[in-house]
Amino acid sequence: MKLTNEYLVNVLEQVKKRNPNEPEFIQAVTEVFVTLQPVIEQRPDLVASGVIERLVEPERQIIFRVPWIDDNGNVQVNRGFRVQFNSAIGPYKGGIRLHPSVNLSIIKFLGFEQTFKNSLTTLPMGGGKGGSDFDPKGKSDAEIMKFCQSFMTELYRHIGADLDVPAGDIGVGAREVGYFFGQYKRIRNEFTGVLTGKGLTYGGSLARKQATGYGLCYYTQEMLKANGKSFDGQTVVISGSGNVAIYACEKATELGAKVVTLSDSNGYIYDKDGIDLDAVKQIKEVERKRISEYLKYRPNAEYHEGSKGVWTVKCDIALPCATQNELDGEGALALASNGCYCVSEGANMPSTPEAISVYFDKKMLYGPAKAANAGGVATSGLEMTQNSMRLSWTFEEVDEKLHAIMVSIFKACDEYSKAYGMPGNYMAGANIAGFMKVAESMKAQGAV
Ligand code: NDP
Repeated sequence: MKLTNEYLVNVLEQVKKRNPNEPEFIQAVTEVFVTLQPVIEQRPDLVASGVIERLVEPERQIIFRVPWIDDNGNVQVNRGFRVQFNSAIGPYKGGIRLHPSVNLSIIKFLGFEQTFKNSLTTLPMGGGKGGSDFDPKGKSDAEIMKFCQSFMTELYRHIGADLDVPAGDIGVGAREVGYFFGQYKRIRNEFTGVLTGKGLTYGGSLARKQATGYGLCYYTQEMLKANGKSFDGQTVVISGSGNVAIYACEKATELGAKVVTLSDSNGYIYDKDGIDLDAVKQIKEVERKRISEYLKYRPNAEYHEGSKGVWTVKCDIALPCATQNELDGEGALALASNGCYCVSEGANMPSTPEAISVYFDKKMLYGPAKAANAGGVATSGLEMTQNSMRLSWTFEEVDEKLHAIMVSIFKACDEYSKAYGMPGNYMAGANIAGFMKVAESMKAQGAV
């Protein structure tokens, strides 16, 4: 699909002019605009109320210095970000990413996507995202704590349980959320649900750790079912070996699939007998080591240098769960030529525009990130609910609610894709369904 609607072409030109060094943000906006064309043609009222121009401009962007002292006594300086993108349907909500590649473009693309994703969950959450170019790899526990405390010493003044509720993302798991929370509580002298992904002993939700990976599989299962297929007996390729990848692997295996790969930014493992998750959890969650260590547990598995090679492994279903633009046109063609018929996204924007074109050309099933990985933030929403009630639900209760939300998200994608004449295009369905709720709310609240 091409962007031909004159109004949207002009708004996109303005976005490009205003944000010249932000390729990821422009990529995310372009993808959404292409699929919103039929809506804009039918809804001149949304054009008149300036909803689109307002949607692409964050409500607030905060950039700050994060100084901290390393184990050798040297001062280190990182850059911190929080982009509060859209609060039309609820407080800003979105994770914090710690990775050396983090810059304003990446945080803005993530915050923009988050706005639609949160809307799809059916829960009252606006869109936001934050992070830093701090690299957690190779840092001691004391250094991680000092960084997190310094980051929160600035961030605390911009967030709150009814204002902006951060969570984890790449490089931020329960340990980092704990350090952020401790520092927030100390400075504010209050115990509130200001962060999600917290430890279970101080307000965290059961099943939050599993939620993005499990949710991805629940969504994919619905998409497969609607097209006469299932996970049962299928070979699955997964990229990444972090939080999302591990729990996608666990749930896909439980649903009868055989997962044969995981990866990191150095390379990928291939285990033809199916990934041994106990070994992976020991390596990644306990020892915090590289995925290549897997061969020590399973000497018959293979390790290959280079993360992109993972897409050349023969499979039926691919679940990219590492990072943005990890799957390009070449990778998508390799998947298709090996018989892969379904790509469903655990990571945010893992497929380049060229890869997405291949999925449509080859008539593959495509589960877009905004919908397919929304289970993480949905369960964060459930954590907020439990914190507000001062109660906690059992694992089974949370998992059941997560499952119901993912089923409803797939239903919305399916229905909106059909209503706008693009049946089976779940990317368009997700974008339009997410957009409608936010757009109606923005229009109702006036030009703010
Ligand atoms: P983790 O930090 O737990 O794991 C990230 C994984 O991806 C690691 O294996 C990492 O390898 C790999 N990776 C990161 N950057 C790159 C890169 N540039 N090239 C190749 N591999 C890379 O993060 P999560 O599992 O939490 O997040 C993964 C993706 O899922 C992200 O896109 C995130 O935004 C998205 N997501 C996460 C949610 C959550 O709840 N955690 C919710 C919704 C989406 P290495 O160790 O070598 O860096």
